[in-house]
Amino acid sequence: AGAARDRSDLERVKEALEDDSIIKVVQSAPAMRVTLGEEFGMEPGTIVPGRMASAFRKMGFDRVYDTCFAADLTVMEEGHEFLERMEKGGPFPMFTSCCPAWVFFMEKNYPDLVHHLSSCKSPQQMFGAVVKAYMAEKEGIDPARIFMLSAMPCTAKKFEAARSEMNSSGARDVDAVLTTRELAQLIKDRQLELADLPEEDFDIPFGEYTGAGALFGTSGGVMEAALRTVAKKLTGKPLKSIAFEPLRKGGAFREAVIDIGNKKVKIAVVHGLKNIIPVLEEIRKGNSDYHFIEVMTCPDGCIGGGGQPRIPKRSLRQKTVRKRKEALYFYELGLPKIEAGDNPSIKALYAEFLGRPLSEKSHELLHVVHSGKG
Ligand code: SF4
Repeated sequence: AGAARDRSDLERVKEALEDDSIIKVVQSAPAMRVTLGEEFGMEPGTIVPGRMASAFRKMGFDRVYDTCFAADLTVMEEGHEFLERMEKGGPFPMFTSCCPAWVFFMEKNYPDLVHHLSSCKSPQQMFGAVVKAYMAEKEGIDPARIFMLSAMPCTAKKFEAARSEMNSSGARDVDAVLTTRELAQLIKDRQLELADLPEEDFDIPFGEYTGAGALFGTSGGVMEAALRTVAKKLTGKPLKSIAFEPLRKGGAFREAVIDIGNKKVKIAVVHGLKNIIPVLEEIRKGNSDYHFIEVMTCPDGCIGGGGQPRIPKRSLRQKTVRKRKEALYFYELGLPKIEAGDNPSIKALYAEFLGRPLSEKSHELLHVVHSGKG
């Protein structure tokens, strides 16, 4: 797991797969389940998590997990952070922090506003910390013997994994990151044809997730997932409807005022960094009345990420990304649970290890202090 960093992630993954002395763990991002198939000639929006899990096992991974689990965990922490800010009266707006390119943009250009970012690590990094701290402790494994691969829709996740603060386990929490295209390359190198593989489940406990976690793959999904948890906590009632409709439709800047319990929450969902700049300038002047804003760098969020399958023609982009997005919402409809707090494996993680959202242990493993230094 402590391999030199001067080789590509793909080379290091191949080397790890040949090493019988280490435990190979993989997580794969929510957005990849509706995009990986395109690298194998399938239609955009073909839903392939079961075949992807099978491919990971055939390639030699010992534990095949799903980043949707850690997205549920992020929702729990971020939702409670938002509730805490509501109790304390701010600072508002709170920005999501799961897109590393957005976090880097804030650190570089608006260091005076980094306290507006949620302190939550991204799901990728929460996952790495949980595997190398909790799983390692529970199973009596030396974290140095774990190789943690993360399969992601973008290259920004590579520099996020390499950041010095992402080593809660004492070394890198995530050892290597492959983009969707690199993962497809690895599968093809092993002479595996995705369409021919059986549908398999992810491993338990970190392969268990709700619809909230799955939604992280598309713009608006993180906000919707967090609001479900906030609404349930504030009203004390199960959610009647799963969809916060204003967040699902519209362009690169969507906003809404949502009634939750007896509170009005002004939210926005933004993709493309140039679209958030006017809001940041207003915050600097003290003029913003937003409470919570989701920001994703890539158009349409991670389903449109730079490491995703290339779209052959520019004219096909809109249609392709729409199919990916529809597939993700369709996939979510088939999941039995919709709120992150209902995930039994998340409940067990809190009961056995973390205590509660925002506990000391949670802060140690799952949160960062944004330095504003970039
Ligand atoms: Fe990566 Fe783009 Fe998703 Fe941000 S929005 S995490 S840059 S794929």
